[in-house]
Amino acid sequence: AKSLGSNRLRVYKSEYGENASKRTKMLFDLKAAIANKKLSVAYQPQFRLHDQQISGVEVLARWHHPEEGMIPPDVFIPLAEQHGLICDITDFVMQTAIHELIEADLLYQSIPRVSFNVSAADFNNSQGSERFLHNLAELPGHWSVVELELTETSALLNLEGVKNVLSVLSQRGVQVSLDDFGTGYSSLSTLRLLPIQELKIDQSFVRDIVKNAQDARLVKTILAMAQALHLRVVAEGVESQQQARYLEKAGCEEVQGYLYAKPMSLNALQSFVKNLNSA
Ligand code: C2E
Ligand code: CA
Ligand code: CA
Ligand code: CA
Repeated sequence: AKSLGSNRLRVYKSEYGENASKRTKMLFDLKAAIANKKLSVAYQPQFRLHDQQISGVEVLARWHHPEEGMIPPDVFIPLAEQHGLICDITDFVMQTAIHELIEADLLYQSIPRVSFNVSAADFNNSQGSERFLHNLAELPGHWSVVELELTETSALLNLEGVKNVLSVLSQRGVQVSLDDFGTGYSSLSTLRLLPIQELKIDQSFVRDIVKNAQDARLVKTILAMAQALHLRVVAEGVESQQQARYLEKAGCEEVQGYLYAKPMSLNALQSFVKNLNSA
């Protein structure tokens, strides 16, 4: 199964689903963490293969639970989605990251793009686009430094809402990326229906690219299609030099993965950028 969704469900069920009271406590704690602004964000740089420069950062939500330690987003994001909390998380993540990156003077020059994960419910309510406009209001310059990553599944769950919000945001320059590309059911329809500039090749395709000829052909096909449609491509989950070399040979321009950098705090990102610039 290529779908990360099924993995997520499995993790969720085995660790929390069977224990309803633990789940209820977790939901209670998550609400408190959101209300008290106890979530945080991590930044994972993305790189251009040809010159190894940073092309952007993906912002990832983090929840450090006082007793349980780090709760992975694959656990608390679905919980938030199920209980109407995701918009609050999105707003927090966007405002925090924009504020931190601007304050640290990283956005625009050192880091030309910042990408946020968004969910179907982010496009549900009537003030969908106002929320995004508010979250981005602190940006001192043009908004094409901002990118929203949405999955095929979440895009199609609420297509009208997504279209409405994106038509407003696209006019302001905001970019759109199709996340986990290839793992949904209607990747091609989504491309036809929405203003998309980027595809992220899911890590499940990248993982075995060197040893699995079928996966390698699929990746080449995605790259060829993206080129024909003038879409930028970021390959996710790149962990080895072999994968990187293969992707570069196949014409992939951008990569993200542990081989280059793990998700990190703002402080770590500042040092990382400094080291890269002085290398
Ligand atoms: P995603 O959007 O596909 O994000 C990429 C995930 O892959 C991140 O996991 C990242 O840490 C991980 N990753 C990056 N490079 C590598 C690699 O080389 N190898 C491997 N094995 N993994 C790598 P993370 O941070 O645990 O996030 C998991 C998922 O949770 C994300 O998947 C995204 O769907 C969701 N998520 C995270 N933050 C947010 C958020 O603020 N809002 C929403 N709606 N969803 C979020
Ligand atoms: Ca993503
Ligand atoms: Ca992804
Ligand atoms: Ca994913």
